[in-house]
Amino acid sequence: MKYRTILLFGAPGSGKGTQGKILGAIPNLFHFACGDAFRNLRIDDPIGRVFIEYSSKGSLVPDDATINLWQKNIKASTVDGEFNPDIDVLVLDGIPRNVHQAEMLQAFLDVRAVFNLHCADMNKMVERLQRRALRENRLDDANLEVIKKRLETYDTETRQVLDFYGPKLVHFIDATQPPIKVLSNVLEIITRVV
Ligand code: ADP
Repeated sequence: MKYRTILLFGAPGSGKGTQGKILGAIPNLFHFACGDAFRNLRIDDPIGRVFIEYSSKGSLVPDDATINLWQKNIKASTVDGEFNPDIDVLVLDGIPRNVHQAEMLQAFLDVRAVFNLHCADMNKMVERLQRRALRENRLDDANLEVIKKRLETYDTETRQVLDFYGPKLVHFIDATQPPIKVLSNVLEIITRVV
């Protein structure tokens, strides 16, 4: 069985997490944020250590570890009744993050829409990330060099995922709008496609 899925897509600081949290509060939408899953690991977990090693440099965690973590989390959420694939729509935030991950997930996902939260203003994204560093205690947001590297990783590795899914599935969303407007744009499309 493939999970009915919508993907939240965008550079670090584009607001995917904000939208994901709101969407996840809506009945029958189940939100999975890949970065949160990594951050919830214990420090002595082998994947937790790999995560710290890569995220502290602004790089992506290797694909096998990432997909493995995804599968484990989805399975656990299904078993404990949080996610019911028969009726719930999966909202993925931060995964897939490169074309190889998209290929690895293809057997599991029935992707109905990809939301490209687009923000052309680099300074605005950097500012949002720096504000978040203190609020959410995120080390990778505190260092300007790491922020720049993450934005670069987005450009060189992640952006191509949009071509993988193609223009029929990808919806451009102006992420410079206030969050409530972004939400309204996203919801208007979700209600049509799921
Ligand atoms: P942001 O989008 O602001 O970078 P995330 O919480 O989504 O924040 O990701 C933080 C870090 O977690 C990434 O920089 C990366 O190291 C790691 N990560 C998250 N999702 C993935 C993924 N799908 N593949 C590889 N690494 C990931």
